[in-house]
Amino acid sequence: MTVVKRALAALAALAVLAACGKPGTPPPKGPQPGALPGYQVRTGAPVNGSPTLDAARGRGHLVVGAKEDQPYLGQKNPATGTYSGFDIEIARMVAASLGFGPDRIEFRTIASANRETALQNGQVDYYVGTYTINDNRKKLVGFAGPYFIAGQSLLVRRSNDSIHGPQDLAGRKVCSAAGSTPYQRIEKDYPKARLVGYDTYSACVDNLVTGQVDAVTTDNAILQGYAAKAPDEMKIAGEPFSKEPYGIGTPRNDTVLRLALDDALAAHEQNGDWKKAYDATLGLSGVPAPTPPPIDRY
Ligand code: GLU
Repeated sequence: MTVVKRALAALAALAVLAACGKPGTPPPKGPQPGALPGYQVRTGAPVNGSPTLDAARGRGHLVVGAKEDQPYLGQKNPATGTYSGFDIEIARMVAASLGFGPDRIEFRTIASANRETALQNGQVDYYVGTYTINDNRKKLVGFAGPYFIAGQSLLVRRSNDSIHGPQDLAGRKVCSAAGSTPYQRIEKDYPKARLVGYDTYSACVDNLVTGQVDAVTTDNAILQGYAAKAPDEMKIAGEPFSKEPYGIGTPRNDTVLRLALDDALAAHEQNGDWKKAYDATLGLSGVPAPTPPPIDRY
């Protein structure tokens, strides 16, 4: 087991102990998991003319790409195989609008560097996993949304008091996921940093805890999750230094699917599902729900 996985397992065990409680013990402090919303599943085939959805209906279920190691966003329980987090709830709420209940979604973990290929090859019907919308990616895939705006940040060991922003990275080892926008930004704008690329951010966090790297860089939403799970070991340094609008990745030519996902996001933002889902997931890492950004129906 990796250091981070061990820490998370230990925390989970503690949470179970705490939940049992002793008589007279005060309730545990900090945000508590709220109830996840249930989403109204539309019946029949509510969206027509999407080749992706036609194929999914033929197969009987949707295949949705996601992350499995990003606390509060996209996390897979290794014992049950169940996925949870804000991105997973986004995937479930829009699936309900397309006529697929939660039992008709198969989640598949796809790393940052493999998202475009997975969508291009039809390995997944759509992708929800801290996926920044940008013009380069739009040449290869489509994006519904945005449904959230994050910003690139830095995670350092709690004892570190010399890194306060990307300008302090010169000569330091900084880790990010290959193929991600944060990786590309450090490579281009901060060439003096000693950049290390892994498949996942959890691998980077392991290397931070063991002292192999000095910082991990990616979106604040992701880093806040790791910091919230192990606040004695890690902290966020400085302020966000980019804008990362999260979209739902789609196969590029399936405009019907993309616009149906835009409609679905708008409906769930309006009926309160979005906020309830946020409060029950990402909100637990300590940041109150923002107003969702305007959807860009291009
Ligand atoms: N949002 C950034 C990206 O899409 C970083 C997070 C990630 O790699 O999923 O590249």
